[in-house]
Amino acid sequence: MCLKIGISRCLLGERVRYDGGERGEPVLVEAMQRAARLVPLCPEVECGMSIPREPAEIGGSVFCPTFVGLRTGRNYTVQLMEWVLPRIERFVREPVHGMVLKSNSPSCACVTPKPIWHPENTPGMGWSLGLFARAFQERFPRIPMADEVVLQHPGNRNIFLERVRKYAASVAEEA
Ligand code: SF4
Repeated sequence: MCLKIGISRCLLGERVRYDGGERGEPVLVEAMQRAARLVPLCPEVECGMSIPREPAEIGGSVFCPTFVGLRTGRNYTVQLMEWVLPRIERFVREPVHGMVLKSNSPSCACVTPKPIWHPENTPGMGWSLGLFARAFQERFPRIPMADEVVLQHPGNRNIFLERVRKYAASVAEEA
């Protein structure tokens, strides 16, 4: 079976970040490419936001997180989620067996949740994963996810790839 792993495009070295930059992780990417076909994605750009764009954070609440521009206070949640939800459903027809996403992003953070931001900096608003990562995890809770921080360590990369292989094998068995 051909393993497939979704990956944040900024980790591939594409200049898609809000500031027009990238966060390429060539060693990690090469390790993933040796094991699987990579499926690049960037929720913010693919939902129609520009490069560069205003920085954003997770707003709202733990139960109903939003995607808010830090300069204008504009709420981009509908724009983002109108891309996220159908994209996630596409993974039913075009499955991936793992997901590697950029840490500390209001869209992609998938391991360490981010503090929910509030204009008055009110403490205790709670924490949330990035909006894409959160929706993906809710839809596909068994698919292994990791970020570039966890996967810096070669041992963690091996463990992650083993989980990806096991997940793919379990899907094949169920088919
Ligand atoms: S962290 Fe996610 S949304 Fe942000 S630039 Fe990278 S791929 Fe795009």
